[in-house]
Amino acid sequence: GRSVRSFQSNLHSPHYSKHHTQATHHMLDQKYIGQAKCMLQKVGSWNFDIFLFERLSNGNSLVDLTFHLFSEYGLIKLFRLDLLKLRRFLVIVQEAYHSENPYHNALHAADVTQAMYCYLQEPQLSESLTSCDILLGLLAAATHDLDHPGVNQTFLINTNHYLASLYQNTSVLENHHWKSAVSLLRESGLLSHFPSEDRQCLETRLGSLILATDISRQNEYLSEFRTRLDRAELHMNNSQDRHFILQMALKCADICNPCRPWHLCKLWSHKVTEEFFNQGDIERRLNLDVSILCDRNSNSVAKIQIGFISFVVEPLFVEWARFSDTPLSHVMLGHMTSNKFNWTHLPQKDLRGTTQNNDSQWALKYILFL
Ligand SMILES: [Zn+2]
Repeated sequence: GRSVRSFQSNLHSPHYSKHHTQATHHMLDQKYIGQAKCMLQKVGSWNFDIFLFERLSNGNSLVDLTFHLFSEYGLIKLFRLDLLKLRRFLVIVQEAYHSENPYHNALHAADVTQAMYCYLQEPQLSESLTSCDILLGLLAAATHDLDHPGVNQTFLINTNHYLASLYQNTSVLENHHWKSAVSLLRESGLLSHFPSEDRQCLETRLGSLILATDISRQNEYLSEFRTRLDRAELHMNNSQDRHFILQMALKCADICNPCRPWHLCKLWSHKVTEEFFNQGDIERRLNLDVSILCDRNSNSVAKIQIGFISFVVEPLFVEWARFSDTPLSHVMLGHMTSNKFNWTHLPQKDLRGTTQNNDSQWALKYILFL
C-alpha cells in the first residue's frame, strides 16, 4: 500500500505520472508521449510552449528536445554518435541542473536550446553554418548553465565559495558551467571516437560560447557586434565570424524571455524574480548586504523586468535585428515592446519603486548585478 507521505508527494507531481494503476498509467503515458512528439513538429515556432512540453514529456524536455534536434539535423549519422551514449549524456546533463532552482534549471536550458534552434534556422545562419557549428550551438545551449547554484557570482565571492577562488572571481559561474559540460562529455564518451585534436577544439569552442553568456561582459560583445555591423565586417564564410555569430545567438537565446509571447514571458519573469529574492533572503540571514535586485522589499517583478528589458535585452536584440533582419526578429522586438508596455501598465501594487526606472543608476546596477 501507499503511505500518506507518498500520496502527498504525488500531489506535487504531474497528475498522470505516478498514482494510476499500471494499465491507465501505460495508456496515459502513450497518450502524453504522443502529444509531446506532436509538439516537436513545431519546435521551430517562436510560440513553442516549453512549459506544456515539459509536462507532456514528463519532466524530460531538455533530453527529448535536444535529442530530437540532433536527429533532425542528422548529427547522429554525420558524427557517428552512439544513440545510447547520446541519450545517456543528455540525461546526465539534465540531472546536473538543480531542479530546486526556480529559474536556473533544466527547463531554462531546454528553452534556450529551443530559442537557439530558431536562430540557427535563420537564413544568415542556416545558409552558412557547418554541421560542426550546429553541433556546438546546440551543445552550448543545452549545457550553458550546468550545475547552476541558484545564486550569482557576487554571492559566491562574498561567501568565499571555492568556485570563486578557483576561477579568481572572473566569470565564475560560466567557467563552472563549461568545465561541468566538458566533464560530462568525457564521462559519457559521446565524442570518444573523435580525433583528440577535434575533441580539444570542440571543448575550447564550447567554452568560448558558454563564457559569452556572462552578462557582465555584455558591453564588450555588444560594442564589437555594433562595430562589425557598422563596418559590414561580418563574413559568414569566415569560421571566426561564424563563431562570433554563434556567441551572439547564444547570448540572445539566453535572455530572450522578454521577447516571447506575454504568457510565457510572465511565467519566466516570476521564476527568475523568485530566484533573486531567495538569494536576497539568504543574504539577509547571513547579515550580508542584500544584492540590489534581490531585495523583495524594494523590488517587484515588473520593476526588475522593465530595467532588464531597457538596459540589457533591448540593446542586444536591436543589434541582432540589424544582423538578421527577418520576420522572427520583428516578432521578437514586437513582443518585447508590448511586454514592456504590459509591465509598465500593471496595477500599482506590482510596481513598487518604478519611478526610479529611468535613473541611469539602473544600467549600472544591472551590469554590477548580473
Ligand atoms: Zn542561462
